[in-house]
Amino acid sequence: MKKIITYLILIIFIIAGILFFLTRVPAVQDALFQRLAQSLISTAPNIFPEEDSLSALVCGSKSPLPHPTRAETCVMIKAGEETFIFDVGNKSIDNLRNWRVPLDQLNSIFISHLHSDHIAELPEIHMWNWVGTSRQSKLKVYGPEGINQVLNGFTEAYSLDWKYRNDHHGDQFAPLDTAGFDGYEITDFSIPVYESNGILITAFLVDHKPIDPSLAFKIEYKGRSIVLSGDTIYSETILNNSKNVDVLFHEAFHKGTLDMMYNALPENSSSRIAIVDIQNYHTNTIEVANLAKEANVGHLVYYHLIPAPRTNLVADIFTRGIDDILTNWTLSDDGTMVILPVDSKEIIITSIN
Ligand SMILES: [Zn+2]
Ligand SMILES: [Zn+2]
Repeated sequence: MKKIITYLILIIFIIAGILFFLTRVPAVQDALFQRLAQSLISTAPNIFPEEDSLSALVCGSKSPLPHPTRAETCVMIKAGEETFIFDVGNKSIDNLRNWRVPLDQLNSIFISHLHSDHIAELPEIHMWNWVGTSRQSKLKVYGPEGINQVLNGFTEAYSLDWKYRNDHHGDQFAPLDTAGFDGYEITDFSIPVYESNGILITAFLVDHKPIDPSLAFKIEYKGRSIVLSGDTIYSETILNNSKNVDVLFHEAFHKGTLDMMYNALPENSSSRIAIVDIQNYHTNTIEVANLAKEANVGHLVYYHLIPAPRTNLVADIFTRGIDDILTNWTLSDDGTMVILPVDSKEIIITSIN
């Protein structure tokens, strides 16, 4: 028996040695990369379910506080055959590209408010929705008053880049007539922002002062519904618009965690000011849970996490006390996906990773 084990270990070592040697052979390296190359340049068509549904993919779950892997705020919505992105924080488009999510058929972008962690990647999504795609018009962007000022600024900053790409790739691959943004300022809250193919998107005001206006969005499709809070303190408008919705995505901070961060900083640190100020224009985790319970939402998803937990231990601290209020909640990560099949009450929470 002992002899057999010794032979087995020897064989394993020999096989491992041969494999190690083979991966150093250029022809083998090329063959291995060739298999990988296709997945690097192609998109994956089946990221979202094929069945008719309203789905949401968290393409960014963190707030501006640093985190080594998460992107800033971003939620991609697919309703039937149409896709939209709500907020495009830093690294969010990188996430979508790493996951090979098709970006060429986007309907439009929605921006909740004009803080940098919600608009930073407008130029990136413009780029990947433009070069080499069949986009027939400029990229549509809906946002609060001021969105056109932001879009004009990005246009000013990036128009040379667009020209260079057109000069290099030509009109078929990078046509200048579809480069740029079509901005739509949302000012009339009595009418839907978007209504087509059974999809209804409405905006409503929330309280994120001094950032005013700041918007939340409700997306409805064939009887299924999602509300995205944007950035806000506890807001009656979210409560009222979230009554009985299937899923509420709500931003949140955790006071205890922030307090510990505050205490860890030197007394003269300017970061202490930021940690205190954060708390007066966001909603704490327990307020969010109480709001979701009162609104009778089907499921609560925490996003725009302040701070986004780096470990399970911190996640445990961040979510402390929520289970005492409601059980149907999820702390999102980049890649969290919500699927709401039509003609069903089912709420599927899964992950792209
Ligand atoms: Zn924010
Ligand atoms: Zn904000």
